[in-house]
Formats: sequence, C-alpha cells, structure tokens
Amino acid sequence: MTTQPIGQGMAPDFLLEIENLTVSFDGFKAVNDLSLYVDKNEIRVIIGPNGAGKTTVLDLICGRTKATSGSIRFKGQELTRLSENKIVLAGVGRKFQTPSIYDDLTVFENLEISYPRGRTVFGALTFRRDAQVIERIEEIAEMIFLSDRLHERGEFLSHGQKQWLEIGMLLIQDPELLMLDEPVAGMSVTERVKTAELLNRIIKDRSVLVIEHDMKFVEDIAHRVTVLHQGKVLSEGSMERVQNDPKVIEVYLGH
Ligand code: ADP
Ligand code: MG
Repeated sequence: MTTQPIGQGMAPDFLLEIENLTVSFDGFKAVNDLSLYVDKNEIRVIIGPNGAGKTTVLDLICGRTKATSGSIRFKGQELTRLSENKIVLAGVGRKFQTPSIYDDLTVFENLEISYPRGRTVFGALTFRRDAQVIERIEEIAEMIFLSDRLHERGEFLSHGQKQWLEIGMLLIQDPELLMLDEPVAGMSVTERVKTAELLNRIIKDRSVLVIEHDMKFVEDIAHRVTVLHQGKVLSEGSMERVQNDPKVIEVYLGH
C-alpha cells in the first residue's frame, strides 16, 4: 500500500518505473540519467545503435549490474538494493542473447527444471511429476510451438526452437515482467512471425521489455518504442512517431 498523497507528482500505476538511472564504468556512463516507465500489459521495445546502453539497462533491472545512482521500482518495490535472485522471485524474468538451455535434457525436462518449485537441477529432477506440473509444462509447450517436440533433446532443436524453449523456461515461472535481448536474431522469417504471435499472446498477464533491431518485428509487437542513444532516451512513443523523428533517423534508422 502506498501512503503517498494523491496529487501532483503522483505517478500512475506503472509496473516498472526507472528514474534518473545512471551506471558508470570507470567514469564512462553507459546509462546516463535514464527515466523509463513501462505499463502493465505493455510490450515496450528498446532500440538504438550498438553501444547505446540497451543491454546494460536490462542488466541493471535484473540486478546483474549495480546502479551508480537512480531508482528502479517494480510494483513499487525498489530493485536496485535486491540481489539477482530476489529480483527473479519478485517477478522479473530475463532472457539473454544466446539461448542457454540444457542440450542433453528434453524439452519437457528443460521446462520441468524451470518450474518454480525446484530451484536446483537436482531438486527439480527428483520432485514428483504431479498432474499439475505436467499440465503446466504441456500448456507452455503449446504456447512456444513445441508440443510435438516435448521428448526431443535440446541439442536437436533449431536455433529458433531453442530461443522459444528458453522463453518457455521463463514463462513457466510466470514473471510479471519478461525481458528479452534480441529474441529473433538468427531466426527465419516464419519463426519471427511466430515469435511476434507468441509475445502478443503472453502479455495478457504480464509486461514485456524487448531489445530488438529487426524493424519489421518491432512494428509487429511494440506498443511503444524507446530509442536509446549514449545511455539516454533519444525519442519515445509509437513506432510511427519514433520512425519519423529526425533525431532517430540521424543516429539510427538512417544507416
Ligand atoms: P547495447 O546493448 O546498446 O549495444 P551495451 O549496453 O552492451 O550496449 O553497452 C553500452 C556501453 O557500455 C558500451 O560502450 C559498452 O562497451 C559499455 N559497457 C557495457 N558493459 C560494460 C562493463 N561491464 N564494463 C565496462 N563497459 C561496459
Ligand atoms: Mg546489446
């Protein structure tokens, strides 16, 4: 419960509120006084040139990198003081650029070890496979287009299927904020279309923060787009708005 009075300066009910966030690496500000607000049920895409600070923003949110100053509030809770593990438990899931699934486990087993009951591989593999767990795994497998590959080992999946499986491993933990770093890099056109469909389906219950370069994909998923440049917000708004922003064309889209 908030005890703040309603009135001037009272923020609306955002899921994620980043304010004046800065991180300095030996004096270089990779993220520089950044403020960013993500709504509930929103798909926000962050775009921007290489080195703009996009991945660093996700690192800061998930606690992998500690902020030099500023604030990151998730459902009103300050994340900058929490460990990575506590941030996951608070409801933030993050997928890195390269898929990190277990090659020698099946799709089913990969999802099973990600089920929130078992936190370690050992614990997860030895708990009873009750009907509820199996049902949830099947539900997720269907969502990520892998129903017919449930008993295939990870190593035999295509690159795109591995990416979906990793998204599924996050979804099974039911995060309220899902963060994805370039999820469609290396995917075929068909896989990109299906990934857009997947993200549009899962935001019923959560918000998604995506870093992406593929403009067609961004157009298919983004509710709003934030353009980062030198650790700051260069432009923000609808895809149409940022695409037509001369500043964005100059530093990013014009290339
Ligand atoms: P993007 O994802 O937008 O391409 P990054 O967030 O990866 O950009 O990097 C932003 C800038 O911060 C780059 O100049 C990068 O070299 C620098 N940087 C990122 N992480 C570190 C770190 N741990 N130490 C020093 N510099 C870093
Ligand atoms: Mg990056």
